Amino acid sequence: MKTMIDIKKLARPNVMALKPYTSARDDFKEMNANYVFLDANENPFNNGLNRYPDPQQNKLKEILSELKQVSKEQILLGNGSDEVLDLIFRVFCEPNKDSIAILPPTYGMYEVLANVNAVKTIKIMLTEDFQPNVEGILNAVDNTAKLLFLCSPNNPTANSFKASAIEELIQSFQGLVIIDEAYIDFSTQESWLSRLGDFPNLIVTQTLSKAYGLAGIRLGICYASKEIIALLNKIKPPYNINELTQQKALTQLQKAPQVQDEVSSILEQRELLQKELENIPYIEYIYPSDANFLLLKVDHANKRYEQLVTKGIVVRNRSKEPLCDNCLRITVGNSKENQILIQTLKNLETSL
Ligand SMILES: *Cc1c(COP(=O)(O)O)cnc(C)c1O
Repeated sequence: MKTMIDIKKLARPNVMALKPYTSARDDFKEMNANYVFLDANENPFNNGLNRYPDPQQNKLKEILSELKQVSKEQILLGNGSDEVLDLIFRVFCEPNKDSIAILPPTYGMYEVLANVNAVKTIKIMLTEDFQPNVEGILNAVDNTAKLLFLCSPNNPTANSFKASAIEELIQSFQGLVIIDEAYIDFSTQESWLSRLGDFPNLIVTQTLSKAYGLAGIRLGICYASKEIIALLNKIKPPYNINELTQQKALTQLQKAPQVQDEVSSILEQRELLQKELENIPYIEYIYPSDANFLLLKVDHANKRYEQLVTKGIVVRNRSKEPLCDNCLRITVGNSKENQILIQTLKNLETSL
């Protein structure tokens, strides 16, 4: 196992040096009814939301800690994965100096965040079968490369990366490896959460936006070593997870069986959809999926996309992405939505 990574040396010097904002509620974590709270200039009239939310989201972290078998100090919550990823950039990447590595075709936010933070993006294309080119990656990065993003299952390709390739990258890359597990609940592969203890440079991100059905509340989750989480905590906005989101997330995390049922149903629907799509002549290939969406190669992606919009069906045209010529990405809907999709696709003319 690798032991040479020094997190303190990877972090930006200004972040190491800064003194975080201390909020009024840091000292009084419990909203104990016996206290009189006159510390935060809130309106005292109780409407259920007149108090600031818990800045450390202790109740939520307790449930997640139990559910995922990770200690509370190894969890950071963000306003969507987007905030989590942005915090990682701002702790570790020095603007106009450092770089990150991504493996296109992949999730667009990594590069956007790099641009926002004035950080260079090194791109190492996935192989033709959408796997990481391990040697290519290790050759392409230098010591300015602070972060390597591995999205598995990957968006938009829908497949998971080989565990052996991921492990080799974690072992050999000299910065932090972020595994984006937004689609892990749909996957046949195991989460990397159980390996956090083995790799001090590993960060795993998950979200309530996909399998948990709560894209609207914006809750992203970051799991890493206590040391990394402490640094992210230093710069996060004090009340970044609002009270309504915390309450809704708590309720949903206690409904594991319902979430599991929905995931099973989505996976069944994916299989059905796949079988039906195979019979449509202008669909040339359906890529194997380990997520809740399918990537399809069609005859003319732009035209098929427009035809579907005209019929009131919105899918994602990914044909401008590298290795994704004429590809559409289709989310698996509920049974009714999928039937509408299939019927509409069958009714389109076979050749354009
Ligand atoms: C959907 C998605 C997310 C989720 O982002 P949120 O900000 O948590 O909604 C993260 N990563 C990938 C690759 C995604 O496709």
